[in-house]
Amino acid sequence: MSTRAEQYAAQVLRREQLSTHLVRLTLGGDGLAGFASTGIPDEWVGLVVPEQFQSRYYTVRCWDGAEMVLDVVVHEVGLVTEWAARDCVGDTVTITEPKGSFAMPEGARWLLLVGDLTAMPAMARIAATVTDVPTRIWAEVPDDLPGYLPAGADVTWLAPPAEGASNLAAVVEGIDWPAGEGYFWMAGESAQMRAIRKHLMRDRRLPGTAYDVMGYWRGVSRRQPRAVDPGPIWRSGKAQGKSDEQIWAEYDAARES
Ligand SMILES: Cc1cc2nc3c(=O)[nH]c(=O)nc-3n(C[C@H](O)[C@H](O)[C@H](O)COP(=O)(O)OP(=O)(O)OC[C@H]3O[C@@H](n4cnc5c(N)ncnc54)[C@H](O)[C@@H]3O)c2cc1C
Repeated sequence: MSTRAEQYAAQVLRREQLSTHLVRLTLGGDGLAGFASTGIPDEWVGLVVPEQFQSRYYTVRCWDGAEMVLDVVVHEVGLVTEWAARDCVGDTVTITEPKGSFAMPEGARWLLLVGDLTAMPAMARIAATVTDVPTRIWAEVPDDLPGYLPAGADVTWLAPPAEGASNLAAVVEGIDWPAGEGYFWMAGESAQMRAIRKHLMRDRRLPGTAYDVMGYWRGVSRRQPRAVDPGPIWRSGKAQGKSDEQIWAEYDAARES
């Protein structure tokens, strides 16, 4: 038996700008014929764009047996970002086989979904699929997305506090949890997700089956300052009659250089 993951060639049929940061790509073509959805509502595929060999993961927003819809967040820089930001209609991409992670226990009586813009495609599909329990959604997004989530969804829209930052950890800590057994699904920036997993385990003491928290992307960590010996800077500054503030400013500048 082959252990090689299935791959599918697909063409970009349509490109639609849904909002400032969200682009909808509709893929199709004969190469997708063998694609079989897992049916799991947060299912994702790997996407390899032209002239690249690395893949990035995207949620299958919709698959109707012939066409696949991916909603791609266009952020500042990035391999897929830069490709999706321009006219890519007609391009051939590679899709890898789908995987899913959402696993709501049978007895769950409510569902909570929390995420940033990258989680919107999954939250929309989950909310449209799970219709038999009350669902609450917290969406931290920079754009207005009217009609993106199913009508009637109980949504709290949150604006991201600043470029690249997120308040989702604080949002989760402030949730007034419904009584009884339920399911919590969340996705966003990886470092935030680690903090939230800890909170769910240690403070809320949820069993691992009651939640699914996924790091969807990794923020760039600020470059560590260089290790600089302050001794010579201090001595030379003092010899030149500089103030302490001037000397520390020089020390900071040397560490950042
Ligand atoms: C299971 C799964 C499902 C996902 N579903 C979707 C989806 O449906 N739609 C979607 O848009 N994304 C989705 N993502 C997230 C997406 O894979 C990442 O955001 C990916 O890094 C984007 O690739 P890129 O080539 O544009 O940027 P990269 O080349 O990976 O990164 C370039 C730079 O951009 C930064 N960056 C990456 N992503 C973001 C971001 N979202 N916001 C701000 N800065 C960012 C990085 O820190 C890096 O500095 C999903 C991820 C996973 C794991």
